[in-house]
Amino acid sequence: MDKHTKFVGAHTSASGGVFNAVKHAQEIGANAFALFTKNQKRWDAKPLDTKTIDAWFKVLEASGIQAKHILPHDSYLINLGNPDPEKLEKSRVAFIDELERCDILGLDKLNFHPGSHLVKLKAAEKRDPEFVQKIENECLDLIVESINYALDKTKNVKAIIENTAGQGTNLGYKFEHLAYIIERIEDKSRVGVCIDTCHMFTAGYDIRTRETYDKTWGDFDSIVGREYLMAMHINDSKPALGSRVDRHHSLGEGEIGLDNFRFIMNDSRMDDIPLVLETIDESIWKDEIELLYSFVK
Ligand SMILES: [Zn+2]
Ligand SMILES: [Zn+2]
Repeated sequence: MDKHTKFVGAHTSASGGVFNAVKHAQEIGANAFALFTKNQKRWDAKPLDTKTIDAWFKVLEASGIQAKHILPHDSYLINLGNPDPEKLEKSRVAFIDELERCDILGLDKLNFHPGSHLVKLKAAEKRDPEFVQKIENECLDLIVESINYALDKTKNVKAIIENTAGQGTNLGYKFEHLAYIIERIEDKSRVGVCIDTCHMFTAGYDIRTRETYDKTWGDFDSIVGREYLMAMHINDSKPALGSRVDRHHSLGEGEIGLDNFRFIMNDSRMDDIPLVLETIDESIWKDEIELLYSFVK
């Protein structure tokens, strides 16, 4: 396989201006990258100014990295499934602003976590799968409504839903959640998914051996649909399979192990999409990128 079908990078820092994320990506030999287009821990952000936008396009063009291999991530504060109407509205406004920022930067994707239902379930309720599903579906419906609303108010940028580890009340830890959302999106040309390997694994999907990898991705293809896979987060995992805990690790250092990453680098499903490291030691990102490319047969 030609290594130029894979586009690997990392989530680099945009501190000091979005163009810095491009520079940091270049420093580590990346062909793809992720970034926050605003401070991810704050609700408000000043609009991107002309100087910043001009610098962004200049630096990006010189880098040779294509816009389709860049994966902006939205603010951690946004919860598109928040049951509190006021907070939900705040999230929707912020999400629309994020989509618009991407569009201004010529980017066609916005990566986000679907949302959390925030309901404190009693022990007995947790053991009742029907009750849990009812709470989850109500939240998924709010998320769907939020995405449709935001897509209607914006243009060009695709909403890229990330799978989660299912920590706390976060939804998106089952392929069925992703499928449920996609099924109900009015404009299917503007929705996709980002699969995070750590989240996938701790949500209970084994990917460590050829057999389990093929089974998991076969399930993905039949439940979600491979045409919706538009990005990946490439992380090893500190916690064990099915732990529902979200803690990334450096490649080969965690519970997943290197074979999974070998399979990915030789899987045509992952061609031509951003493959982004969010591993914990950024001083070795350059080595991790080289390691991934060395797996290509
Ligand atoms: Zn991720
Ligand atoms: Zn994570």
